[in-house]
Amino acid sequence: MRIRNKPWADEFFEENNHIILQDPFSYKGNWKEAFTDKKPLHLEIGSGKGQFVAGMAANFPEANFIGIERVKSVMVGALKKVKAAEVSNAVLVNEDAKDLRDMFSESEIDHLYLNFSDPWPKTKHAKRRLTYESFLEQYKEILKDGGKITMKTDNRGLFEYSLASFSQFGMVIEDVTLDLHELEEEKNVMTEYEEKFAEKGQPIYRCIVINIK
Ligand code: SAM
Repeated sequence: MRIRNKPWADEFFEENNHIILQDPFSYKGNWKEAFTDKKPLHLEIGSGKGQFVAGMAANFPEANFIGIERVKSVMVGALKKVKAAEVSNAVLVNEDAKDLRDMFSESEIDHLYLNFSDPWPKTKHAKRRLTYESFLEQYKEILKDGGKITMKTDNRGLFEYSLASFSQFGMVIEDVTLDLHELEEEKNVMTEYEEKFAEKGQPIYRCIVINIK
């Protein structure tokens, strides 16, 4: 549901401003302040309706999770999921991920997740892909040396493009799987899109990439 004017969403966000941060840029270099304890920071870009970030926070209490999603009406769903999970190690940010360096200081992030990112298949839209060079430049800076990016997608074209983009950028591909669900990994937390594609029997591609400074 897309609603242009959403005062009810603003109210809902305000009531839950300990989960959905009103001024995320003010936490730069000091993200532990957004959580009850200092733990490794994991960041998901394009969280959608939040199933992954809520599920990861519940399954991995040893880390703190931040989910960024730019569409407000979608973020409402993410806030509901994180609230329902009753976790204290997940917060949400309703912003576009284009200015991550204004939100995180150098090497502040331990792990970054890109789940079912929009593929933008037309070459003229390549700059919008979350694995385009300008995004990788930001990831490289905010991730620790040796920090990781995990990417999952159903889109073969985006997957191949991203593998090339990561390696041209000097990042190290640690692991590639062309059928994640065949591995039956117990700790794989599924996203909404992942469930939808898996139900249709489509393979899920995943890569894990290491950041080298
Ligand atoms: N990750 C979710 C999943 O797997 O179910 C949602 C996938 S959906 C295809 C991609 C999401 O990324 C959309 O909700 C979109 O608004 C968000 N998104 C795309 N580009 C973004 C950006 N630059 N900053 C923040 N969110 C973005």
